[in-house]
Amino acid sequence: MAPALRVGGITPLTTIDYPGELAAVVFCRGCPWRCRYCHNGHLLEAGGAGEVPWPEVMRFLERRRGLLDAVVFSGGEPLAQHQLPAAMAAVKARGFKVGLHTSGCYPERLQRVLPLTDWVGLDIKALAEDYPALTGVPASGERAWQSLELLVASTTPHEVRVTVHSTLLPPHRLQALTDRLIRAGATDIALQKCDPSHALDPTLGATDEAWAARLPEGKEEVAVRG
Ligand code: SF4
Repeated sequence: MAPALRVGGITPLTTIDYPGELAAVVFCRGCPWRCRYCHNGHLLEAGGAGEVPWPEVMRFLERRRGLLDAVVFSGGEPLAQHQLPAAMAAVKARGFKVGLHTSGCYPERLQRVLPLTDWVGLDIKALAEDYPALTGVPASGERAWQSLELLVASTTPHEVRVTVHSTLLPPHRLQALTDRLIRAGATDIALQKCDPSHALDPTLGATDEAWAARLPEGKEEVAVRG
């Protein structure tokens, strides 16, 4: 039997992780990047304590049939696990919509799971050239922007999500980033304030609270989540 998806935790009910749907979130283990502001440090290693066995996840979802609309695979980076497509198919076969939160680090794998995916939240963290300083990984930006390109070209509903920390993404870079996202075809861009309180990098200070007030106006593709 193929090894099961490695899950680090579940949120049983959320209204904010899949637009317009009642969803459960399955937090997948493993991620190849080490973003300074990551607050899911406990999920980054592929194995580790606190694992929820996949059969237990499925039993939970069986009990929620008719009560939940969707299941969102989040992480960590869900696409880091080769078991993701089978897990998505199992969830879909039980009548749930499938959502995916991804950082875009595996564009080829993203392309392959799109037919199983009803909605994608793609994190774009910075301009491509600024990624290595944030993720610690060379060429990470090229991969994320390649994922954006294929998502924009797809028919899969999606949202581009940008976490804003005023040190990592100062106003002029944020402006350049939103401009470039719009030029790339993104139509639904959500900006959210970084909360560095559980950041991987303990030296990362608080973000400037006034960042949203300095945003350029008149970009209908961009929404601020606070
Ligand atoms: S923020 Fe996302 S991409 Fe970055 S290290 Fe954390 S889980 Fe990985």
